Amino acid sequence: MMCGLEIHVQLATESKLFCSCPTNYQSAPANTNICPTCLNQPGAKPYPPNQTALDSAIKVALMLGCEISTDTVYFQRKHYDYPDLSSGYQRTSVPVGHHGELNGVRILEVHVEEDPGQYKPDLGTVDFNRSGIALIEIVTEPDMKSPEEARNFLNELIRVLNYSGSARGEGTMRADVNISIEGGKRAEVKNVNSIRGAYKVLKFELIRQKNVLRRGQTVQQETRAYLESQMITVPMRLKEDADDYRYIPDPDLPPLKFDPEHVKEIKEKMPEPAHLKTERFVEEYGILHDDAKVLTSELELADAFEEVCKKIKPEDAATWMRDELKRVLNYNKLAYSESGISTDNIIEILNLINDKKITPEAAHKLVEKMPNNSKTPTEIGKEMDVIGVADDDLIQKVVIQVIDENPEAVADYNEGKGNALNYLVGQVMRLTRGKANAKQANNMLKEQLDK
Ligand code: ZN
Ligand code: MN
Repeated sequence: MMCGLEIHVQLATESKLFCSCPTNYQSAPANTNICPTCLNQPGAKPYPPNQTALDSAIKVALMLGCEISTDTVYFQRKHYDYPDLSSGYQRTSVPVGHHGELNGVRILEVHVEEDPGQYKPDLGTVDFNRSGIALIEIVTEPDMKSPEEARNFLNELIRVLNYSGSARGEGTMRADVNISIEGGKRAEVKNVNSIRGAYKVLKFELIRQKNVLRRGQTVQQETRAYLESQMITVPMRLKEDADDYRYIPDPDLPPLKFDPEHVKEIKEKMPEPAHLKTERFVEEYGILHDDAKVLTSELELADAFEEVCKKIKPEDAATWMRDELKRVLNYNKLAYSESGISTDNIIEILNLINDKKITPEAAHKLVEKMPNNSKTPTEIGKEMDVIGVADDDLIQKVVIQVIDENPEAVADYNEGKGNALNYLVGQVMRLTRGKANAKQANNMLKEQLDK
């Protein structure tokens, strides 16, 4: 199969693209963030495009490895008739950037356009709060060869957008998914609003198109809709050509030319893109690629890792942050930035482990108490009574106690039941509050039982 994507995401600006209305369209009552311009009332003219939106688009294009357009950039009117679009045309720019690349997928171009309003066909109402919000559209070449590749690409793209700090992310994503297979024409599935949805669409279309060809019919060039609840696609209309949109330059908007100095400034200030950061972590810190990928999944987490590495061996930091910290963050559905866990906290708990002031088993429990806790790891550890490592004498004493108190498990062990030993080790760990080294407890138990 061949798959290309057109991805729309809202840019994080305070005001709309061509007027000063605010952009908090979800929290505002319907049709309150509006003015004559974004309602497209007769005679109302657009303001020049929002500078933040243009800068954001340049930044994202640069992060995707695009060349920024040195030609005149102007807005066109793309005509279509639908209740969410009161002007009858959408203002959409010619490419801001082109010829980028991400995850082995070529980026054809990046441009800016305005969001339409929200039409609710079941109620027959339109909310224009969203009308005129700035969107970025990213168009790829048809380089993805499987639903999995498309999913990986979208995950990576969302990571770039999150890093940029200039886009509203997956929650506002609407993707048009183009797919064809050998011997057939291309179908375009409109308005898929999640990565998971895009994956399902591709899985479905792959089977549908194969079946059409198998029956000796032809796959038509057409536009289809995705019915999320049923996870199928259905025909909408035969595919329109660019001609059908009757593109013309918008005479109300001045043509733009990007100052190369300004573009350079944006490039110098933009965050290092996630995929390049991953490679750098592998080289600079000598950590595993998989670890680097997890650590760069969030900019704040990646920054924290680099901070921790000033005090802790990178391998130790990477392993612990990936296995223990991420486990707790995922369990609590928290981003690192929302966890309240500082780099000092991380350094402290890693020092406790490295200095053998706490066992890995006890640290495993302690980290679960760290999110949004104003106490330091040492304070939490003292409260839980898990600071300290049991010495041989203490472990030996507890081993004998556990054997005494669990005759049934001992009998099971003597009959060769493997689980019995694990159970007894668990009892030693419990009685020592995790201060015993589990391996050592295991060995000492075995020694005592095999006597
Ligand atoms: Zn407005
Ligand atoms: Mn578009």
